[in-house]
Amino acid sequence: MANAKPCKNKVQDKVAIVTGGASGIGEATVLAFAENGARGVVIADIQDEKGHKLAESIGANRSTYIHCDVTDENQVKSLVESTVQLYGQLDIIFCNAGVMSFGKQTVLDFDLDSHDKLFAINVRGVAACLKHAARAMVEGGVKGNIICTASTAASVVRDMHTDYIMSKCGVIALMKCASYQLSGQGIRVNCVSPGTVATPLVCEKIGMGVEEVEKLFEPHYCLEGVLKAKHVADAVVFLASEDSEFVTGQNVVVDGGYHFHGIIKY
Ligand code: NAD
Repeated sequence: MANAKPCKNKVQDKVAIVTGGASGIGEATVLAFAENGARGVVIADIQDEKGHKLAESIGANRSTYIHCDVTDENQVKSLVESTVQLYGQLDIIFCNAGVMSFGKQTVLDFDLDSHDKLFAINVRGVAACLKHAARAMVEGGVKGNIICTASTAASVVRDMHTDYIMSKCGVIALMKCASYQLSGQGIRVNCVSPGTVATPLVCEKIGMGVEEVEKLFEPHYCLEGVLKAKHVADAVVFLASEDSEFVTGQNVVVDGGYHFHGIIKY
């Protein structure tokens, strides 16, 4: 097996930004990048205490926390500039910061102010991060990787959370346009779409603990076990690594086959 690749160090010496990196899927991805050899992992979030603690746990020279509200383009621009100043270049950005619907959000009772607030984070925030990261990659001549968090919610119809579903469809559309527009520079752009992971986002929204949420969803997976943030992080590492060097413009669903639940088994 002369050509076999090592299973770790998939992002050896790379510099990555993770937005929403202080919690849940972002936190698991920060740890996965560090475990896989990244020389710089920048945690961007608005939860300063958690973000600083996570960076400290990885080590001062390999990880840095930077306060960044993704709804503020100036903060996003400065996040990217600071990363390049600190580590010399930017190879990877995981545009992951996101929130769930504020309220029920059904069409007949749409609260459009809440809709705007959600879109400012889930769509505009992703667009701002993608824009400034891509500019830094182009300026630095880096054939980088951009991964955005969409959701399996983008392909379902529900009796609520309409704005959230719309926002994740928007992220997938943005990813597709960006992957085409940046392909000439060798920059790849992909999405991950997680199923339900028992992160603070989900637990707080449905008012349940981690174990309760996992128990609720366990019967619906085709695969044995429950979906964890680590499973999503592993897919992000794959998309950020050379293992996926000819993959761009794709939405990678990580849900243990939950989506197949609608299949009728005779
Ligand atoms: P989480 O709440 O644990 O993490 C989200 C992080 O984003 C938090 O640390 C939060 O502080 C940060 N954030 C929120 N607003 C921000 C802003 N304006 N600027 C910067 N950071 C901000 O939730 P999570 O489940 O890990 O969510 C991460 C992403 O995954 C989100 O985009 C979410 O929509 C998506 N997602 C989650 C699930 C799930 O089941 N947990 C499923 C599909 C998609």
